[in-house]
Amino acid sequence: MKTTGFRSFVLYLLLFAFLGGIGWFVINLAANGEKWAAQPYNGHIYASGSTLSAGTITDRTGLILAESQEDRRVYAESESVRRSLLHTVGDSSGYINTAVQSVHRSHLMGYNLIFGLNDTIFSGLGSSIQLSVSARANAAAFDAFEGRSGSAFIFNYKTGETLVKVSALTYDPMHVPDDLLTNERYDGVFLDHTLVSTYVPGSIFKLVTAAAAMDTFTDWETRTYTCENRFALGDSTVTCLDWHGTLSMEAAMGHSCNIYFAKLALDIGPEKLQETAEKMGFNEQFSFDSVTTADSEIDLSSVTELELAWSAVGQADLMANPYHMALLMGAIANGGSTPEPYIIGSGSNTKYTLVSQSTANRLHDLMRTTVSYYYGDSRFEGYTVCAKTGTAEVSGRDPNCWIVGFTEDEDAPYAFAVCVEDGSSGIRTAGNVVIAALNALK
Ligand SMILES: [Zn+2]
Repeated sequence: MKTTGFRSFVLYLLLFAFLGGIGWFVINLAANGEKWAAQPYNGHIYASGSTLSAGTITDRTGLILAESQEDRRVYAESESVRRSLLHTVGDSSGYINTAVQSVHRSHLMGYNLIFGLNDTIFSGLGSSIQLSVSARANAAAFDAFEGRSGSAFIFNYKTGETLVKVSALTYDPMHVPDDLLTNERYDGVFLDHTLVSTYVPGSIFKLVTAAAAMDTFTDWETRTYTCENRFALGDSTVTCLDWHGTLSMEAAMGHSCNIYFAKLALDIGPEKLQETAEKMGFNEQFSFDSVTTADSEIDLSSVTELELAWSAVGQADLMANPYHMALLMGAIANGGSTPEPYIIGSGSNTKYTLVSQSTANRLHDLMRTTVSYYYGDSRFEGYTVCAKTGTAEVSGRDPNCWIVGFTEDEDAPYAFAVCVEDGSSGIRTAGNVVIAALNALK
């Protein structure tokens, strides 16, 4: 009897160990199955490190951006479309890990927990994805970069639909350069500048300084400062492009007068300017399609008066992320809040509040006047645009050129942020990118 009891005990022990092992495997399969199936050494999916069997990716009109044909991944017919959307669609080797082909890899491969990759292996199709972007507008924006690097992002600030998302430097995924990994001219080519890069903001930061003044002074609208081209501060000077004389906020924004905003910031003080910048999303990370974006950076905790003055005009030790700048424009356009932009499906319900309603409306009016009186509405035919440009000096190169803003049009409510490296002027270099994209979105 004793022997039987001992045998039963051993059998039970083995049974528990077996069931435990099965349970452990099932839990891990559920948690990690997608990752296991998507490993680059899975020969059903990849060959020589390139995505083979994955679903089709289309733009908002159904135009094919990427599909699998026989044994290779094929991208859009137009080279401009392919290059403009490289960082959005992705490459065949998975180097661009913020792109749809990486972020949604298991979905594109048709993975599901019960059948694994069987559907994909037998049909070779995978699951398809439609993106909200317009291939036509992306190509138009990209061509307007004229070979320069930078970032362009445009989204519908009412719905959150992403329409344009260009990151340059780029390459053609159908003709991958042989020296892509070795030639230093391709340094940083896998980075999506829209999401993970930051640039010196230059004069677009005057919008933040203006917002800080609106929060601080009840007389901000009638308050004047005088620009005499140079403003001595400590043992240095703040300079302006012109001799603007005595200006109000509206004229100072239109002329983009450095000295007006420098003097204004000295009265606002570093704490209040820092607080306003942080309310507006500086030093904060945001999300885009489950990618965490780089934060715009500002730290005025121990600045000198001279550094504060240059910070107020965006020309000091502070940085802006293009995606965040677009969000801020969406928030100003929308009376304070913006939906989180999306590229697949109908988005999340995430909203970002970056400015109070009254400040949003005041900035809106200032940006509208800046276009109508100073840049000229004729540049933006067919749209009513509110904007601010900036040129940020970069040592040893031509400036970074920015334009940020939005359209007022009910049926085309677009917020945009464009930064072009090595350009000539905000309105010409970056403005042309926005104009090309807006025209293509008509
Ligand atoms: Zn001036």
